[in-house]
Order: sequence, then structure tokens, then C-alpha cells
Amino acid sequence: MSAESILTALLPDTAEVLDDDVLIGGVSLRHLAARYGTPLFVYDEVTLRARCAEAVAAFDDGVAFASKSFLCGEMARLAHDEGLCIDVATGGELDLVLRAGVPASRVIVHGNNKLPSELEHALEVGVHRIVVDNFDEIARLATLVSPEQPLDCLIRVTPGVEAHTHEFVRTGQEDTKFGFSLVSGDARRAIDELRAMAHVTLHGVHAHIGSQIFEMAGFEEEVKILVDFIAGEGFDELCVGGGLGVAYVAGESSKSLTQWGEAVRVATRAAGLDVAVRVTAEPGRAIVAQAGVTLYTVGAVKPVTQRTYMAVDGGMSDNPRPVLYGSGYEAFDVATPRAARTRSVRLVGRHCESGDVLIDTAWLPATTAVGSLIVTPVTGAYGYSMASNYNRVPRPAVIFVGGGAARLVLRRETFDDLARLEA
Ligand SMILES: *Cc1c(COP(=O)(O)O)cnc(C)c1O
Repeated sequence: MSAESILTALLPDTAEVLDDDVLIGGVSLRHLAARYGTPLFVYDEVTLRARCAEAVAAFDDGVAFASKSFLCGEMARLAHDEGLCIDVATGGELDLVLRAGVPASRVIVHGNNKLPSELEHALEVGVHRIVVDNFDEIARLATLVSPEQPLDCLIRVTPGVEAHTHEFVRTGQEDTKFGFSLVSGDARRAIDELRAMAHVTLHGVHAHIGSQIFEMAGFEEEVKILVDFIAGEGFDELCVGGGLGVAYVAGESSKSLTQWGEAVRVATRAAGLDVAVRVTAEPGRAIVAQAGVTLYTVGAVKPVTQRTYMAVDGGMSDNPRPVLYGSGYEAFDVATPRAARTRSVRLVGRHCESGDVLIDTAWLPATTAVGSLIVTPVTGAYGYSMASNYNRVPRPAVIFVGGGAARLVLRRETFDDLARLEA
């Protein structure tokens, strides 16, 4: 067996494959590695902006970027510039987005256990929406809202549709920590409670059925249930959540943000949703995943009886998804991107864990060796944002590229950064 040479479909939109290098945003990955070191996250600004613009066009105003997928000041500003609201789920995310200069009126606050201090801060600065998750939160909000600090909210409901990668199921139990159950009547009661409160405007409902979803059927089912539920309520907003899948490996293909928006629009019309109701969404992965790649340097190649282990200078601290979810990735040798990938190796990191695997079976050219520069595409989502300092490994730098230029947006962590918390 062997695998094709580099798969441009997995690379950012501006990628150019040369015989001995790959350019993104007109910038050489080999030069970036030499200048900034590895591991390194590289994001294509054109791809980021294009996906943001596509999301804005695909949904009504209020569509948001789910910042947990990748957040730094530059990303928050970019998404805001392109017309997206920003979803946050913690005080830390809210703080960063506000520091970045995004107006509070464009921020949506999520979370299944928002701290009293987080709710207070959100009301104080006047966020666009708080997405109310549970009755304890309603009780907490009741003590915090005032004429000066009114609440604009959605309620998060569980429509009983659980999307899996290639199919969806209706769950009778709605066994989840998120939101108000529709079937139990909790969602109905939450609406009544919020409507009885002064200084509260309940705009509508929100649901999020899962992540890395390839099939539109789950979203269509979700829309139908939500539209039926809110019939006659006079709401002005319905948010279908995030979850649109992206292709990570050869053979996968995903729907575009445009196709997703179209499927949702068709479903809302078919279900008879009032055209005055804004239909919004909150993609994360679909905005940032394909825009980002990670560069690693090979440091050790160890054949054992069963296979060859190839170790790079990063691992589960910069990409925990393979360990957490068994996610697949592809790897390419930057200096020989057109070479046939004839050798399979297990691409592993440098952490003290046998489970520290980046790619279980990675196909690389036979010439890839110690010192080779490896690129793993589609690492823009849930890589840096889930990065850890496990083994006290400093987190990589993040570079944005575009128009032939590179700029550092997050510098590489240092040992001094790691030492700063010692009391
Ligand atoms: C994680 C999350 C998203 C984004 O999910 P993606 O799969 O990255 O699109 C959107 N909404 C909510 C409520 C989430 O928890």
C-alpha cells in the first residue's frame, strides 16, 4: 500500500505546491520553520477571511464564530471585522475577546455552569446574548438583572437529535449536561420563567447537536423540531448551533458553509418558520480548521518489529485530538511534497506517554528522515486552543500568513512563561 502525494484539498486555499517546498499565503513553509522554529502553527488569513465571509453570507446577522475552536486577539478581530459575532463559553474567553477590541454587543455567552462573576461581567458590559442553560442560572440571573443591566437571551434546548459523524439518532433520554429538555417540559417552563422576569428579553431558542457533522439530515431534523416547538411564541431568533464537519484525511468530503446554510434555510421554510425570524449558527471548526497547518521536525526514527516509529518535536500537547477522539490526520514532507508516500510510520510526539500518537498510520515518502520538516494539515481547530503544557513543554508560536508576508500573532512560550506562576 501507499498513499498519494500531497493532497491540496486538505491545505489552506492559497497553498502552492512546489517540487521542494509548500507555500501558504505566498510564504515558504521551509522559511517559516527556519525563522520561527517548530512546532509551529501557520494560518492562512485568506482562508480564515473567506470562511468567515461565507458564514456571514450563509446565515442571518448574529451568526457567530465559536471561539473555543481557536482564539487569540488577532482571530477575534478578524472574525469581528468579517461581520461575525463571537461565541464565548468562559470568563477567560470573554476577557480575551473584549481586550481584542470586539464590542460586547457582538459577543454571545455560552456555558452550562456560568460563574456568578461571569454572568455579572456579561451583564455589566452588555453582551449581545446570554444563552441560558439551566434553572439555577435563571435564578442567578434574576438577582443580577436590572433596568441598567437588562438581559437579552436565548435558551439552549436539547431537541433530542444527536448527530454522529455519518448519521444521527433521536435520543429519548436526551442524556446531556447541556440545555433544557424539550420532551420533559423543562424548556417550556424555562420560557415561562424568563418571560415572567422584568428586564429580560427572550429572543428565541438555541440548540447544538454535535460536532464534525457531515450529513445535513441531523440539522434538518433539528430545525424541524425547533420550529415546531417555537410555533406561535413570537420569537425573533433561532440558532442552530455549530458542528459542521471538515475533511481531515484523504477520502473525506464535507459540506461547505454555504451548503449548510442552504440546507438549514430549506428546512426552516419547509417547517413553516416565520420569515421574520433570524436564523443564525455558530460554526467553529468549519471556519478555522482548514486554514491552519502544523509544522514539525522529525527527531528520531525507530524501526521495531511491528512498525517504524517516527517522533516529532510536538505531540499531544499541541494536538490532543488523536488521543481524545481517535481523530485522523495526514502528514506530508514539506521538502518533497510531490513524492509518492510509500512508507507507513506511526507519527508520535515527544511526551512521556505511549498514547502520545499524532497519526497512527502516517504515509510519508521513503526519504523522510531525521531533520525532515513535516506538515500536518487541517490543524487549525481545537489544536492550539486545546494545547497544554504537559511535560512542561512550551506552547508553539502561531503565525498568520498572507500576501507573501508572515506575522507572529502568538509568540512561542518560554520557560520563563512557564515559571511565572510559581508563588
Ligand atoms: C463547540 C460548540 C460550537 C462549535 O462547534 P464546531 O464543531 O467547532 O462548529 C458551537 N456551539 C456550541 C454551543 C458549542 O459548544
